[in-house]
Amino acid sequence: MQIASLGSGSKGNATIVSHGKTTILVDCGFSLRQFEQRLSRLEVSPEQIDAILLTHEHADHGSGVARLAAKYFIPVWSTVGSARAVFDDSFVYHQVCGGESFRVGCFEILPVTVPHDAGEPVQFVFCHVDSGKKFGILTDTGHITNHILKAYDKLDGLLLEFNYDQAMLDSGPYPYPLKQRVSGDFGHLSNDQSIDLLSQIDTRNLNCLIVAHISENNNSAEIVERRLNALDAIPLPVLASQEIGFGWIHI
Ligand SMILES: [Zn+2]
Ligand SMILES: [Zn+2]
Repeated sequence: MQIASLGSGSKGNATIVSHGKTTILVDCGFSLRQFEQRLSRLEVSPEQIDAILLTHEHADHGSGVARLAAKYFIPVWSTVGSARAVFDDSFVYHQVCGGESFRVGCFEILPVTVPHDAGEPVQFVFCHVDSGKKFGILTDTGHITNHILKAYDKLDGLLLEFNYDQAMLDSGPYPYPLKQRVSGDFGHLSNDQSIDLLSQIDTRNLNCLIVAHISENNNSAEIVERRLNALDAIPLPVLASQEIGFGWIHI
């Protein structure tokens, strides 16, 4: 299984999960032109994408999905709540429900319901059916639930949000209501919350940790790396940037 990102953060997200002939895109928060340019860096053509999975309707995840799907005839998988917020009523898509896995090519995919201020947000855990290897994506989540701990246990790879450092958010430039939203139960994961998740799940198989959706105002790569270095038995993290994302990683 291999993973790559076209960009990660509040200005646009798109992640690719691929194995053999199956290529799946999770979210597209970029314009069509931006998407095509960024995709070409990975030497993938849009025609190779078999499926687009939508996590939720926020613009940094959903703004580019409808146009991309229409131009290249790519089928979309989405919850009803996300689809209602992003697409018009005539848009045809595959409905997914949190907790009910579905198959695309060689992947069994589990949508995981997460607490976030959107209509019906989910995140995704991929299981490669032949090897049994598992890769999870977890961003745009306000707090860690037991439900999440169960779904993200025993992964081989994890792309995890480290959105903000609490002290930087508190003293940073955001207006008070926005600080409340980001750090609220339906906002984003702080460094503390994500470290806490890593300490609660079984990471013995984890050979790839990707630090994602890092706030440009309220966090820094140095802080996240220092925090992760203090943990035992966690692989050296890869940082997903807003501009580049990250190149192909094999799990
Ligand atoms: Zn987001
Ligand atoms: Zn969001």
